[in-house]
Amino acid sequence: MPPIDKRSLSERDICTKFITPAVRKAGWDEMTQIREEVGFTKGRIIVRGKLVTRGKDKRADYILYFKPNIPIALIEAKDNNHAVGDGMQQALEYAETLQIPFVFASNGDGFVFHDRTGVTAPKESNLVLDAFPSPAELWAKYRQWKGLKPKTERVVLQDYYDDGGGKSPRYYQVNAVNAAEIPDLLHYLDPLFSGITIQFYYPYHQRDELFLDFAHRSSLLDEIIRLKRSGVKILNSESALQALKNNSWTCRDWLIDNADPDGTLHHGCYLKGRTDIDCARCGFSPHTEISLAFGGSLPAIRAGLRIFF
Ligand code: SF4
Repeated sequence: MPPIDKRSLSERDICTKFITPAVRKAGWDEMTQIREEVGFTKGRIIVRGKLVTRGKDKRADYILYFKPNIPIALIEAKDNNHAVGDGMQQALEYAETLQIPFVFASNGDGFVFHDRTGVTAPKESNLVLDAFPSPAELWAKYRQWKGLKPKTERVVLQDYYDDGGGKSPRYYQVNAVNAAEIPDLLHYLDPLFSGITIQFYYPYHQRDELFLDFAHRSSLLDEIIRLKRSGVKILNSESALQALKNNSWTCRDWLIDNADPDGTLHHGCYLKGRTDIDCARCGFSPHTEISLAFGGSLPAIRAGLRIFF
């Protein structure tokens, strides 16, 4: 068979025949770590007179995940009529939007690697096709950039709680064993998000291992309040954090509606009627906040406004 004429191949062919194999060879798992053609915005809304349309979706050619929900690298591909780094400008814009630290461009001949963290010197370099970095190499740079201590790294890397609803949860589940790591975790999360809410145990049946006893809950809450006062973007009101120490709040669950993943609406506490519930141990902060707000607590009202509006 005559040698393949790379320049006649489409961008998709370049991905399938050159880029994906190079990434796989570097140790990335195709099923769990590599996602292709990832749409990440519905496009901006364009208004022309009375006509409202949406702009084009944006689509990253590849996003690589160190763990589910930890996107760490983005690759933009071009066909082989382009230079190897021609996709870099677009890749950097996407990476900025998605807050992804490591960025690659490729035309199937090799890669241009741009390290947005600044850990790698020089910041931008050319790699041959066989030299794509492994997950461990990129994670080591990420860890160095974030200054992650081993115990915080363990929490960051632990699996997210997944309720089976098919959506990516954006919260960390931390149990009594590693509750002491929460202050470090809050410092880690603070620059990444515009705000953080804390909640304690929601008394699901048979999830007792997640309950943090009141003595530990109280001292942890003291530390969380201290961090809030020092400027860490914790959105819970101080009143709610104080009330959660010993559950001195009266639940008014009828103020809340909630929805199942299939869209079925429920009125009141989600757990009622589903399981035996032990309200005395409940640490579900949205109910704490709204119950306090109903009782006239100004900090709780302000927290609700800040979180939801
Ligand atoms: S009724 Fe209120 S206190 Fe009881 S479990 Fe539900 S949210 Fe928690």
